Amino acid sequence: MSQNKERINGAKGTDAENKTKVSEGGNFVFSTIRMVLIAVLVGYLVWTLAKGNPKFRSMIEKFAAAQKPTAAVREMISASGETMGTFWNVKIYDAPKDWNGERLAETVQKTVDRFDALMSTYKPDSEISRFNQSESTDWFPVSTETARVVESAQNVAKETGGALDITVGPLVHFWKFGPDKQPLSEFPSDETVDAIRSKTGYQNLDVRLDPPALKKRIPELCLDLSAVAKGFSVDGVADALKNEKIASFMVDVGGETYCFGTKGDAAPGKPVYSNRWLMGIEKPVKASPGIPSEGASFPEGNAPRFYRIVWILNHAIATSGDAHNAFMIGGKRYSHIIDPATGKPTEIRGGETSASDVGSVSVFDESCGRSDALATALYVLGPEKGIALADRLGLPVLYVLRNPDQSQSGEKGYPEKASRAFADIPSEKVESLSR
Ligand code: FAD
Repeated sequence: MSQNKERINGAKGTDAENKTKVSEGGNFVFSTIRMVLIAVLVGYLVWTLAKGNPKFRSMIEKFAAAQKPTAAVREMISASGETMGTFWNVKIYDAPKDWNGERLAETVQKTVDRFDALMSTYKPDSEISRFNQSESTDWFPVSTETARVVESAQNVAKETGGALDITVGPLVHFWKFGPDKQPLSEFPSDETVDAIRSKTGYQNLDVRLDPPALKKRIPELCLDLSAVAKGFSVDGVADALKNEKIASFMVDVGGETYCFGTKGDAAPGKPVYSNRWLMGIEKPVKASPGIPSEGASFPEGNAPRFYRIVWILNHAIATSGDAHNAFMIGGKRYSHIIDPATGKPTEIRGGETSASDVGSVSVFDESCGRSDALATALYVLGPEKGIALADRLGLPVLYVLRNPDQSQSGEKGYPEKASRAFADIPSEKVESLSR
């Protein structure tokens, strides 16, 4: 095999030598013309220099500038796909040489598919669906991933006084916000809702890590990990990329995002943080199917209009809101997020009657799963209790409220409420950027 290679190379070599010989024939004529041209050019340059020709100066400057080393262009690889009824999108910089889009897509898809297979309530054979179907109150063995996600969710449930409650499964099912998206036509009675709510409660769920298992205290208990699993799948992908020594990346699963590393040096004249990953927080416009949307807010198909942009470094951002998931029940608008204390979905009043209703809440944390869980909980708690809790936890949080009626607060458009720690996240309002 190696001999064949040598023979082929040798043949090429011979061919090249022949070409060299052919070109040698015209060498004398070419070198004479070249010498004459150089002499004329040098003469012209010296003459113009002597006369201080500005064109010459600018030519020299351009030549010098072209010789300066330019900033290295960093190579970005991106990939995207679908999972959990939504989209994922990942970008990486400066990957090892054997990485390409295909390898990136494979790595990400494998990770998110694993979370989907374990934690989906949309798949009847997922680990969580099998736990939900079982009426046993004994320990039910699960994967380490599921036990960890449930444990983290239970911690957030305790921190938020039950505003996040992954046992809302029967309520999600009752209100038809889950796989059977068929909103009720009439608002049910309090008695009906209370009867279903009695089958919920995060205190009715136990979790252990070693060996990993879950346990129901009431047989009817049903879990819904929709508020947290996307975020934890982002953490899973981030871990996989860090293990592969990828030094700069952005992972987005259905809007829950984690950004690691920087994108090189900040450009001259730009703030130091401008080399971080840039993320946009959408305006919380009404955009759900079946609900009249603010047409002009989505001028180009579904392109969102951003309210604020943030620069992120080694942090996740997760947002909960009703812009993409809301329902009409009995003529009123409701979000898909349920208040576990009442068993009812949160009513969307902002823009019509209230000056303080939440459009969205964004939470920043090192773990995307925790950000995702806290964002849902803080949506339920509302800005007053939510900001107080965020300040106690030292958590960067931004609420975007709805207030088209400026007379109520004197603030135009979408007023906001931020926790103290949000000041540590570099950000800018989009309106102020266009000024
Ligand atoms: P979040 O605020 O993050 O979560 C809200 C959701 O959590 C609600 O829709 C409800 O299910 C639940 N919830 C409501 N209130 C509470 C509360 N107080 N505490 C805890 N939980 C609450 N969608 C599809 O259409 N098809 C699919 O095949 C599909 N597969 C999925 C698989 C997995 C593993 C997961 C996690 C989700 C899947 N989804 C699927 C759901 C879809 O992606 C959801 O719209 C999404 O998870 C809701 O996320 P969000 O960011 O909009 O809202």
